[in-house]
Amino acid sequence: MRHLKRSFPETSVAPQQVLDTFGRPLRNLRVSVTDRCNLRCQYCMPEEEYVWLPREDLLTFEETSELVDTFTELGVEKVRLTGGEPLLRRDLHALVRMLAGNPRVKDLAMTTNGVLLADQARALYEAGLGRVTVSLDTLRPERFRALTRRDSLPKVREGIEAVRRAGFRGLKLDAVIIRGFNEDELADLVEFGKGVEAEVRFIEYMDVGGATQWSMAKVFSRAEILEALGRRYGPVEPVVEESWAPAERFRLPDGTVFGVIASTTTPFCRTCDRSRLTADGMWFLCLYAQRGIDLRQPLRAGASREELKDLIVPRWTARRDRGAEERKALGHRGVLVQIERLRNDPHLEMHTRGG
Ligand code: SAM
Repeated sequence: MRHLKRSFPETSVAPQQVLDTFGRPLRNLRVSVTDRCNLRCQYCMPEEEYVWLPREDLLTFEETSELVDTFTELGVEKVRLTGGEPLLRRDLHALVRMLAGNPRVKDLAMTTNGVLLADQARALYEAGLGRVTVSLDTLRPERFRALTRRDSLPKVREGIEAVRRAGFRGLKLDAVIIRGFNEDELADLVEFGKGVEAEVRFIEYMDVGGATQWSMAKVFSRAEILEALGRRYGPVEPVVEESWAPAERFRLPDGTVFGVIASTTTPFCRTCDRSRLTADGMWFLCLYAQRGIDLRQPLRAGASREELKDLIVPRWTARRDRGAEERKALGHRGVLVQIERLRNDPHLEMHTRGG
């Protein structure tokens, strides 16, 4: 049986509305549950070796849940589990059950590479996970191997099937499009998405921490994606909607809807209500932020929920981050963080702060 919400007596009290300096609400929290990954995608983890977070620093499920509950009292209602690869975290369904029990969490989702999904989809669904996004950049086994340095495409496809069988609706497939690598697979991915009833979202290659192979020349832009799909399918119409979501959505002549996340060429900082909690309890206000706020230490020192809120609220109300727009404004744009700095501070890595 699918998990039912546990009752929270205090939900009669409306959550606080906490706005930053640009009026953006604290509403959307990405929770990384591990910095480890079972793939080595060239755009995210291209190096041979990594410095991992110390195990004793990783938040327990109870600690993560306490922090999420605190954030939800401040207005967070969308929570996405990510990583690293979230399914590497043992018994993830137990954390899902805890978070799904908080009625203030209106949307509980997970982003995964899908490799371990076939084994876990049902338990996650039964625990109360609402939605799943699977990252899938190519449908060609040899490309998948070259990109991820693993042979796991069949497992990912099995995982996608298992999501549907388990009962999930609203599956999304995220594909990073890189010039010279997979820009010829746009239509194949759209067709694959139709077949598995998933909305495909194309993501521009981003110069985030960890992307040490990034260059502007490899970015296949939103404009090029739309142009290529228009050439193949006919006129592409924008889906008109008011949304804080990162993806702009478009419709093909046959009605198929797809998304584009164009953080590199068309950043959407103005509507960014997302912040990120790492597996060791550092809170980042922007994907591009150089520094985070340590919530683990006060939590482990016994801070009450009110004391945690007193740490969170002033940081959010002072938030001025517009990382992607600032990157775009640079005349010359190269790799964001050099490898030596990444080795000294793994929190700068995308796979640590959670994509
Ligand atoms: N392991 C999970 C997965 O693969 O979905 C979750 C973590 S992963 C860091 C989250 C998302 O970040 C993935 O969709 C991945 O494609 C995206 N990502 C990582 N590095 C990126 C980059 N340089 N540019 C654009 N997207 C990137």
